[in-house]
Amino acid sequence: MLYRSTRNILSGVQSHIAIKTGMAPDGGLFVPEYIPKISETDILAMVNMSYKEIARVILSLYLDDYPEIDLTSFINEAYSPPRFPIYNPAPIHCLNDVVNILELWHGPTCAFKDIALQLLPRLLVKAVEMSGEHNETAILVATSGDTGKAAMEGFKDVKGTKVIVFYPEEGVSEIQKAQMITQQGDNVFAVGVHGNFDDAQSGVKAIFGDSEINRRLGRDGIKLSSANSINWGRLVPQIVYYFHAYASCMKLGKVNPGAKINFVVPTGNFGNILAAYYAFKMGLPVNKLICASNINNVLTDFISVGTYNSIRPFHKTISPSMDILISSNLERLLFDISGEDESYVTHLMERLKLTGAYTVSSNLRDNISEYFWGGYSTESSTLETISDIYREYGYLIDTHTAVGIDVYDKYVISTGDMTPTVITSTASPFKFCRSVAEAVIPNGIDAVIDEFKLIDLLSEKTGIAIPDGLKALEEKQAKHLITCQQNEMASVVENLLK
Ligand SMILES: *Cc1c(COP(=O)(O)O)cnc(C)c1O
Repeated sequence: MLYRSTRNILSGVQSHIAIKTGMAPDGGLFVPEYIPKISETDILAMVNMSYKEIARVILSLYLDDYPEIDLTSFINEAYSPPRFPIYNPAPIHCLNDVVNILELWHGPTCAFKDIALQLLPRLLVKAVEMSGEHNETAILVATSGDTGKAAMEGFKDVKGTKVIVFYPEEGVSEIQKAQMITQQGDNVFAVGVHGNFDDAQSGVKAIFGDSEINRRLGRDGIKLSSANSINWGRLVPQIVYYFHAYASCMKLGKVNPGAKINFVVPTGNFGNILAAYYAFKMGLPVNKLICASNINNVLTDFISVGTYNSIRPFHKTISPSMDILISSNLERLLFDISGEDESYVTHLMERLKLTGAYTVSSNLRDNISEYFWGGYSTESSTLETISDIYREYGYLIDTHTAVGIDVYDKYVISTGDMTPTVITSTASPFKFCRSVAEAVIPNGIDAVIDEFKLIDLLSEKTGIAIPDGLKALEEKQAKHLITCQQNEMASVVENLLK
């Protein structure tokens, strides 16, 4: 399996090089040169396979330059206690006859990012070893809140790596911030940027593209890489849980063997839902991929009219991990759906950079809506959904998952489709507990109590245990207190790496 760039200066790259490099040097993203197929028989056989076994099947198709024995041990290490529960890292909770919730937040930082970010450091360190280099790898991360913590946790004390996380100083929840600034490990750093996620992300991309900085760092034996979902090593572990979810649904009798299902994915940077698309293209029987947004609904508009317009007000919402106006991974979808037309993709991405917007051909738009349905949830209906689901089913969901469920309801109303559906639940409700508590604690909560006390209160009132990763956060000592402007990010990086 070889990889190429969506903008095509580079091709014929092995997966370990793609993972080590992060973003292609021509500004594009690495994609597989073809999408491998899994036969119906092999999918049916997954009913009797564990998560780790399914992970081995998928990973060895995409990462065939890695020795099989290493992939097996990486998977065993990543998806075992204490990182993930012993029985299953991605369990299904059946809400009713049609709707199943895929809980992806049983990892150490309580969001789905752990599933990829517990594996990526292992893949990356091995990639450096395979290429015979002795560089230190410096991983730059822009985060809307969850990736940063998951990357710090995944890479802490990993030899030969340093991680610098940039988060929007005012754009993450109290809990997300506390998780990052109290992180242990001498090789991981968190820096607050005065700006929003898009500012942090474009700052990081600018550093990757700056040949002067790369040359200076190279002289000191340092190479930059990325742990954002622009890195192929982030995406491929996410394909696994779509196959596993399908197998679980067959096992639970929720879907007949070989029958189609829908996936609903709360979406920001388009990474998670793109992994679902790859699973679909590999042969998983999917009816529709439902792309759920909050009021930063740039993707909803794009899917319905074919114009991607990022020039619009940026809203800070109660589902902050989806507060994104430039969804990087859409580039990979455009590449595949346009029939791998790299010059067209380059043209669209240049329009986006220059004008903040682009419009795809009506043909391409029609192809997209064959696979995808897009919708969004307002702040008040997100809260209502949390409270409805808790009242109706006694099941507690976070704000991002609530966006997914609310958009799914809109999908059913608009289409009447009753195909069995899996909704990906991307974070533990305790991670976004202010909004969750507001929605489910009937007498209202005192607005002044801090989020850490709310975690305890929410657990007390619902009888649901607090995940280990969120216990006693306020007692931990803050280690990372640097903040900067967007235009200072490059010098912060060089200073921290000295
Ligand atoms: C990152 C994140 C998302 C968005 O996922 P993308 O892959 O960026 O689309 C949704 N929910 C939560 C809780 C997240 O952390």
